[in-house]
Amino acid sequence: MQTADVVIIGGGIVGSSIAYHLTASGCRNVLVIERESAQGKGSTGKSMGGVRAQFSTPVSIQMSLYSIPFYASFEQRLGYPCDYRPQGYLFCATNDKQMAYLRTNYARQVKMGLNKVRLVAGDEIRSLFPQLRGDDIVGGSFCSTDGFVDPYSAAIGFMTWAAEHGATLWKNTEVTGVTLDANGIASVVTTRGSVATRKLVNCAGPWAASIAKFAGVALPVEPLRRMLVPSEPFDEFPHTAPMIIDMSSGFHFRPEARGFLLAWNDPEETPGFKTDFDAAFVEKILTRAADRVPCFANLPVNPKRAWAGLYEMTPDHLPILG
Ligand SMILES: Cc1cc2nc3c(=O)[nH]c(=O)nc-3n(C[C@H](O)[C@H](O)[C@H](O)COP(=O)(O)OP(=O)(O)OC[C@H]3O[C@@H](n4cnc5c(N)ncnc54)[C@H](O)[C@@H]3O)c2cc1C
Repeated sequence: MQTADVVIIGGGIVGSSIAYHLTASGCRNVLVIERESAQGKGSTGKSMGGVRAQFSTPVSIQMSLYSIPFYASFEQRLGYPCDYRPQGYLFCATNDKQMAYLRTNYARQVKMGLNKVRLVAGDEIRSLFPQLRGDDIVGGSFCSTDGFVDPYSAAIGFMTWAAEHGATLWKNTEVTGVTLDANGIASVVTTRGSVATRKLVNCAGPWAASIAKFAGVALPVEPLRRMLVPSEPFDEFPHTAPMIIDMSSGFHFRPEARGFLLAWNDPEETPGFKTDFDAAFVEKILTRAADRVPCFANLPVNPKRAWAGLYEMTPDHLPILG
């Protein structure tokens, strides 16, 4: 039987990052198991690529205070690009309750050491982006080090570096079970044979609950479909814009290539492994888009280029570690 000091299940961005960090810390026998023929076919390749430190909980802020400077120096550290673009995140509040929420988050973020975040007045947002319908915007919050990365490139960079320093990636290999003994995990059963290990890291994203079940653990992770709509080239809004979030509807968008990438979390979506793109979503999102950005009424989109992926949802929307 093969052995590994640590087996990581899932070669998406989380598994790849953990493979990198373990290897960089001196762990020599790390095995990443991925059932697909290539990395990034899970949620990682479907992501909008937004990275931000503007969170509300200390643990999320703390993690971003590590990860965003890491992305800024990714290429220097690893020798591979992740395409970090610090164009910022701009939250736009349309009532006092939302503004109070941003103010509380801002105070917490600053206290924890985030020094690039600032509160902005409604007038400043209107003058920065006159293309927005700004009559109801009371203010917002902006952080210039927030922005976007290419999650696929980041995952490949992490895994390639780890493989160059001793880690192994098995593709086309599915984990089908786990064996346990009196000391806990004894081995991982795969379509390529069993691997003896005492340490298993579950990085299966939306499929994490099924892996946990192999070890007798009930993990509250559910897949929830999320759809994104890219536009065709469009020049009536600046391409230097940040991710802009309309807090009144949840509609958000960012520049992508010569156009824009549009997102909106449909509250009618229900959990399940649905990855087909629903054509009816285009009208729903364009209605929200044109409401906040009137020139988006002319935004050309090709529904055939739109896609859907799965968010791994937890009861409190926070990661599960440990
Ligand atoms: C449309 C969309 C937009 C998003 N936008 C953002 C964003 O802007 N910012 C952000 O931070 N996050 C965003 N996310 C969330 C983000 O994409 C995920 O949180 C992240 O990619 C999860 O990475 P992961 O490595 O945990 O999972 P995945 O990338 O899904 O990787 C899990 C891997 O496990 C493999 N696997 C599963 N079961 C097995 C098995 N039995 N054996 C072997 N391999 C197995 C899968 O094939 C897969 O490759 C978005 C998600 C979606 C769908």
